[in-house]
Amino acid sequence: MTDPLTAPPVLRGNFAFFFDLDGTLAEIKPHPDQVTLPEPVRITLYQLAQQQDGALALISGRSMSELDALAAPYHFPLAGVHGAERRDIRDQLHRVTLPEAQAAALYQWLSDRMAPLAGSEVENKGMAFALHYRLAPQHQQAIEKLAQEAVSRFPGLALQPGKCVVEIKPEGISKGAAVAAFMQEAPFQGRQPVFVGDDLTDEAGFEAVNAAGGISVKVGQGETQAHWRLANVADTHQWLFQIAQLHALTDRRESYESPDRGI
Ligand SMILES: [Mg+2]
Repeated sequence: MTDPLTAPPVLRGNFAFFFDLDGTLAEIKPHPDQVTLPEPVRITLYQLAQQQDGALALISGRSMSELDALAAPYHFPLAGVHGAERRDIRDQLHRVTLPEAQAAALYQWLSDRMAPLAGSEVENKGMAFALHYRLAPQHQQAIEKLAQEAVSRFPGLALQPGKCVVEIKPEGISKGAAVAAFMQEAPFQGRQPVFVGDDLTDEAGFEAVNAAGGISVKVGQGETQAHWRLANVADTHQWLFQIAQLHALTDRRESYESPDRGI
């Protein structure tokens, strides 16, 4: 069957850009600590942000401190932990937290049960927990069952499956909610939103931009609600380079053609 989704056009105009990081802007590695954002990509993100008056945010399952480290030296608006934490363009923080005692009890409960599953790892994000099995795919079923049990045992939580990971996050948070929050604020407000992502958690982002008449782009194979598709991370980079270049060219031409240009 041929894929009904095609590559998105090279965008020209006013947009609000939202990007997932792992598997979208950066290649997935055996361990999340090995992931890097290539320098030309970081520079292009910065150019795109400049071209759109700052309307560009990274929306990831990672913590915001990890996102800052990956994007350095640039400092973008961020949503981390699938939207449980968010930093707006004025550097204001918006955080959803779990009661401290509950988070500690849940982490202990998960750690005890993950310990015998060799190669698996539980990552504590403060208000969310990622159960990784990339290095131990044989434990996938056991970990999915464990995550389900955790959600039924501890109140106010929801499951977020992903690639070789199941996450347990506070109920009601999603990448779509994070996009919607940004879209109520300048400089995002009034622009056409663009969301690019590769995983199940990004579907909520696609849904949010589709509802707002925006552009949803799935990176890689798989069922999706996105309206466009890019084959892989390298194609995503090329697409972004093209958008940034087109905008720069258009800008130059317009300033050249403008009769009142300051020289
Ligand atoms: Mg991803």
